[in-house]
Amino acid sequence: MKNRVRDRITIRSRVLLIELERRCVDALCNAKARIGLTKEDARLYCGFECEQCKRWNADILTERDVPDWWEELTITEKQG
Ligand SMILES: [Zn+2]
Repeated sequence: MKNRVRDRITIRSRVLLIELERRCVDALCNAKARIGLTKEDARLYCGFECEQCKRWNADILTERDVPDWWEELTITEKQG
């Protein structure tokens, strides 16, 4: 529990725009994962590593995750 508080402080010092809540896909683990993304991270986002079991969870952002940023993120991609 004490470690959690310290994590929060570290996260807050970064410029986070999006915070995702996911669960590890491993049925035995199923740990809750909180993923903080900057706008730059969001463009490159393709998954996260579970903090519990270190398993890679392939993932993508959906419009529901980032309703405020979705248009901007997708428009920029189309231009490139
Ligand atoms: Zn896991």
